[in-house]
Formats: sequence, structure tokens, C-alpha cells
Amino acid sequence: MTSESPWSQLGLSPQILELIEKAGYKQPTSVQSQAIPLVREGFDVLVSSQTGSGKTASFVIPTVERFQGKNGTYILALSPTREIAQQTGAVFETFGAPLGLRTVVCIGGASIPVEKEALASSPHIIVATPGRLCDHLERGNVWLDFIQCLIFDEADRMLDMGFAKQIDIITEQIPKERQTLMFSATFAPKVEKLARSVMRDPKEVTIEKTVESAPKIDQRLYWLDEGKKMSALMRLAREETGTIIIFAKSKERVFQVWRALHDKADDVIYIHSDLAQEQREAAIAEFKSGRYRILVATDVMGRGIDVDDVAHVLNYDVPREAEDYIHRIGRTGRRGKTGMATTFAIPGKDDAGIRAIEKIRGITNERSEEARKNDQRPQRNNRPNERRPDADHQQRHRGPRPARERLETPKTVAPNPVMSPPADILVEKQSGIGFLDWFKKIFS
Ligand code: ADP
Ligand code: MG
Repeated sequence: MTSESPWSQLGLSPQILELIEKAGYKQPTSVQSQAIPLVREGFDVLVSSQTGSGKTASFVIPTVERFQGKNGTYILALSPTREIAQQTGAVFETFGAPLGLRTVVCIGGASIPVEKEALASSPHIIVATPGRLCDHLERGNVWLDFIQCLIFDEADRMLDMGFAKQIDIITEQIPKERQTLMFSATFAPKVEKLARSVMRDPKEVTIEKTVESAPKIDQRLYWLDEGKKMSALMRLAREETGTIIIFAKSKERVFQVWRALHDKADDVIYIHSDLAQEQREAAIAEFKSGRYRILVATDVMGRGIDVDDVAHVLNYDVPREAEDYIHRIGRTGRRGKTGMATTFAIPGKDDAGIRAIEKIRGITNERSEEARKNDQRPQRNNRPNERRPDADHQQRHRGPRPARERLETPKTVAPNPVMSPPADILVEKQSGIGFLDWFKKIFS
């Protein structure tokens, strides 16, 4: 790493700089440039920056440097899911192990006695999900009196997942004299509330999404009845030749979708929280390796699966929480590529869910209404061939955009998935009947 490298301007030790170079991180990301110096100075730091912006290294690098050469358990990082905890543990290994720091990861689904023994060996760093850590606290397997640096990673997600109580229990057992770092994709009010209660005068780092770094995702919304979802899915799976992640709302639905696809193809795999940890890891690894092309998952799995090159995210069910929509579709359009996200919504049933998604994407109801009106612009009536027998009925229900027009339209690129203009969300309202017709037109 040359002295001109921006990394060398963050005040890090030569040894750390070498490890960074080895990891292949050529330039610090914005969040890393801004957060690392503050963390090094010992401030409490509250960071909001989008998924995929490199938040993990921005707390791992300065904290391992700070505790290098000290014996005792000083760092505790809390993660919302097992997968994220493991990925974070791996980053701590990358930068901590060469400095002599040992990391233990405690997650649901792994063996309690094995973790107990690992905790008893006083590792320097503990990475844990809040639920599992509380288990260990209750059993007296771990004490947190020595922790000097407490890290909340993906704080918004942890709160969404209902870990507030466990977080309270854990935080109470950690000395007040400590450094607290909090990382989140969004500054949701509940994140700010937690920050107020556990942090002291935090320095805030907010990285606004930029056009360059925002994923480019072509988002489509199809209205259809429940009974039509499966055949629409089959067609999509056939026509999309790239990798697909399909999100469904429950374990049962995941299994149902997997079974249906599996009957037709052997490149489909699923993960949900009932699977043993090893099975889940194996599934993700095999999906990443390309052995499987289609992954069916619940929301719990949605965040933190850092899989490159997912061509298409399908929301087989509208997510329960609008924020999950953003996390789900964040699996595609990564690293400057254009991705595709399709959502199946049931008229009547999912209206509120879709409104919530539109809202979180910065689309007001008025603007959506405007978009809807635009969708019915009169030119469409000048295409007699594309009028279907039930066109009048559809017109009343905001009928579909003519298929030919859809095919010829270049992929709409949303410069920013949250604030993008309504035109790029191709909202199609459709009575159940006729959907497949239209679908065929698009894909055949
Ligand atoms: P976040 O927590 O903000 O969602 P991660 O910390 O998981 O993001 O990082 C996303 C990906 O970017 C990871 O694969 C990580 O290895 C990679 N990464 C992080 N920092 C850099 C960097 N400075 N240069 C290149 N890649 C990086
Ligand atoms: Mg992260």
C-alpha cells in the first residue's frame, strides 16, 4: 500500500494497512473514511449507511487495532441473524487473528456446550445474536464486565426482529464506561431511541445514498390472485436464466415454493430458520458457488446474504414490513450491475403493504395516483390490437400497460431505490383474470 493510498491517511498502523491490502480493499468506502478516525479516537459513533457500503470493516478495523496486545474479552458485537454474525466473525478473524485476537461467534442453532467452552477460553472478541447471548448469560456461561467496546450492527434490523428486550438485558450487564458503536442502514425512530438510551454524545456519520453507489434495480409490481402466483412463478423461473432469490412470507410457503420448482428443476434450494445451521450454510455456499441457481428464503435470511450477481429477486409474497422490501431487493443490482425485482401482490389483500412500500420508497400517494393516471394515458387506446376483450373492465381497474410497449421499453434504472420517481415502479393493477395472458405476452 503506497503512502498516497487514502487508507494511509486514517492513522492506522502499518500492520493493519498490510492486512487491508491483503484483504483487497483498495480504497476505503465513504463510511470507512468517516467512521474509522472517530472510532479510533474513542468516541461513541452512530453510523447510518446503506447495505453493502462496508460498515463491518469500519468497526472491525479500528477496534482490533485498539485492543491489539491486550488480554481479556473487550469487544462485543451484536448481530441480528446467524448469517450476519458469522460474516462479522469472519471479518474479525481476517483482521484480528493476525494481531493475536481470538473471536468467538455465538448464534442460535449452534451447540450451547461448544460455545460455552469457547466463551470460557476468554476470547478477545464475542460476536453474538442477542437471543443466544442472553441464553449464555442466563446459564452463567459468560460475564460481560470486561467489555469496553459494545457494537450494535444492523441495529434497525435487530429492533425489527424484536430484540429490544434482549438488548436491554445485555446492555445492563456491560460497564457504563465503554465505547458504544451503532451501525444501521436507516435512522429509523426506534434506532434513534435505542441510541439515546445506550450511547453518550455519539458522533453521527450519515452517508447519503449516491447515484453511483445506489443499486440499479428495475422494479416491477404485478397484481394477481393467490391462485395465479404459482404458474406465474413457474414462467418467471423458466424465462429468467440468471440467478434468482425468491422470498416468501413463512417457512411453509418457502417449502411449498421450493417443492413446486423442484419438481421441474434440480437447481433450486431453500433456507429458513428451521434448518440446522450447517444446512443453511451449505445451502448458501452452494447457491454462491453456482451449484444452485434459485434460492427460496424467508425474510430472516434476506439480509446479510452477500451473494454477488443475483439477477432477479422475486417477492412471491409482499413482505410484512415495508423495510424488508428494501432489504430483499438489495440482493440484486449490487456492485454496479443492473438487477431485477418482481413483486407479486394480491388485489385487496396487499394494497396496504404496497402503499407502505411506495411510501418508504419516497413515493407519496398523490404521486402514485399521478403515475396511475399516466399509465392510462390516451395513447394506449390508439393501439387497437392490444386492446383485449376485457379491456373496459381492466381500464376501470387500471389495466395493464400493453405488453409490446413493456418489451420495447429499455430497463428503467432507478437511481435510488428509496427516492426514485414513481415511473420506474411499473405498477400493474389487474383483476385476476387475464394476468397470465399478459404474462405470456411479456415472457413468450
Ligand atoms: P454493510 O454492512 O454496510 O452492508 P459489508 O460490511 O457487509 O456492508 O460490506 C459489503 C461488501 O463489501 C463485503 O463483501 C466486503 O468484503 C466488501 N468491502 C468492504 N469494504 C471494502 C473496501 N474498502 N473495498 C472493497 N470491498 C470492500
Ligand atoms: Mg452490515
